Amino acid sequence: MKSKTLNRILICAMVSGAVIWQTSCSTVPVSGRPSLGGLVSDAEVVKMSVEQFEAMKTQFPISRNPKYNAMLQEVGHNIAKVVGYDIINPDWEFVVFDDPSSINALAMAGGKVGVFTGIFKVAKTKDDLAIVIGHEIAHVSAKHVNERLSKAMIGKSLGAGLSIFTGGLSGAAIMGAYGFGSQLGGLGFSRQMESEADEVGLIYAARAGYDPRAAIDLWERMAGEGSETAPPEFFSTHPSHGTRIVNIHLLLPEAIREYDLAKSGGIRENIIVIE
Ligand SMILES: [Zn+2]
Repeated sequence: MKSKTLNRILICAMVSGAVIWQTSCSTVPVSGRPSLGGLVSDAEVVKMSVEQFEAMKTQFPISRNPKYNAMLQEVGHNIAKVVGYDIINPDWEFVVFDDPSSINALAMAGGKVGVFTGIFKVAKTKDDLAIVIGHEIAHVSAKHVNERLSKAMIGKSLGAGLSIFTGGLSGAAIMGAYGFGSQLGGLGFSRQMESEADEVGLIYAARAGYDPRAAIDLWERMAGEGSETAPPEFFSTHPSHGTRIVNIHLLLPEAIREYDLAKSGGIRENIIVIE
């Protein structure tokens, strides 16, 4: 009798696990890595991200610095062209937030991109900025936020996940998943996600006609800035500096091929259609 009950429990657990896996398993666009991002709907992530970006524009002063704004608009729109359908329904918007102490940037679902003026201390050229923006947009096309939210629902932090999702996806939860705020630990993306964003972002920058070789000096300068008051995106969970530089060197040959193709007039707009 006991063993029958135990069997039922085991079968039930297996079926539940299979259902969770089936409904949550998806593939990361661009890299093809299997992930657990499917528990959160794309439409809801886009809607909430757009709302939160609108809120950011009222919470942070917006920079009118003509040089920074011109640089961001030019680089951002050139990258947007090659990102194409990797991002769902983008309504591109590029905003410079005025905070010289913040060496930070983010891209959100829906095609919303923000950089803080502190980023220009390390991103000194258009090539540098393209690598930063490419990296941020790669987090979006790889749906890292969907993955973090899905994992919060079914992983170790199931309790926290349930509280996050009580009454629907909250603004605080989605900002936490982007690495801003305290929910989901406010830790930013995992090292695997950061490496993935480095890889995909470098290709975006190169395809848009920006020199991927700039990445080495850019990340060297970023590491040199230290992390005392630094936000998570660039300093806490990124691969260690040495690992990142080794990885960039490995990625450079392919990125340089893409860059040469773009510079020879063959800018390859992305035609990969993501469902
Ligand atoms: Zn990142």
